[in-house]
Amino acid sequence: MDDRTFRSAMGKFATGVTVITTLLDDEAHGMTANAFMSVSLNPKLVLISVGEKARMLDKINETGTFAVNILSEDQKEFSMYFAGQIKEKRDFEFDWVSEIPVIKDALANIVCKIHSKQIAGDHTLFIGEVTDLVIRDGAPLTFFEGKYGKIVNAEQ
Ligand code: FAD
Ligand code: NAD
Repeated sequence: MDDRTFRSAMGKFATGVTVITTLLDDEAHGMTANAFMSVSLNPKLVLISVGEKARMLDKINETGTFAVNILSEDQKEFSMYFAGQIKEKRDFEFDWVSEIPVIKDALANIVCKIHSKQIAGDHTLFIGEVTDLVIRDGAPLTFFEGKYGKIVNAEQ
């Protein structure tokens, strides 16, 4: 099976979009990710998957903390930017929760410390224990078949 066939199949699973953020040596870093899931209620655990080539990998390994920011429908540009799909360099202004940089006006800012991790092929799975949370009303940005979208007639 080739990579394109695998990605096309995985793309049939509609997801939201997050930006993972962290802070290392007083420098904030963001990375777009849709590999995110809720894992456990007691304790409160979530999971993210970070590629071996992503700069984010060493940063999370070093700091042991990260935030998952669930993007709203009008934050597509943030997703493109933190995926490197918009090339121009910008000065990005973060909000802060528990001294971790987070995306302003995201639907949720979920602050975590590493609970455990597992290298799986060319990605590392980080299970994070949730230490702080901010949530806001709104509709999500979606990703399906490699394209961004919105929920039509989303009931609020
Ligand atoms: P870079 O590529 O270095 O950074 C990303 C961009 O953000 C760059 O333009 C950088 O300049 C900018 N940036 C970062 N921090 C700051 C800052 N503080 N101030 C200003 N600019 C900043 N990859 C995964 O590993 N796992 C996933 O689950 C995943 N899901 C994805 C979902 C979608 C919808 C998309 C589009 C991509 C996804 N990717 C995922 C791919 C991933 O987002 C890219 O490969 C990304 O470029 C890797 O990030 P990096 O840590 O190497 O950072
Ligand atoms: P795409 O068609 O590559 O993505 C469709 C689906 O394939 C994604 O939702 C994801 O489930 C899966 N996928 C894609 N790349 C993967 C990877 N390297 N490892 C594991 N699963 C992967 O969509 P696109 O618009 O071409 O994506 C833009 C870029 O973002 C591509 O370079 C893609 O590789 C990357 N991306 C990476 C991941 C990831 O690492 N988990 C997820 C989504 C997108």
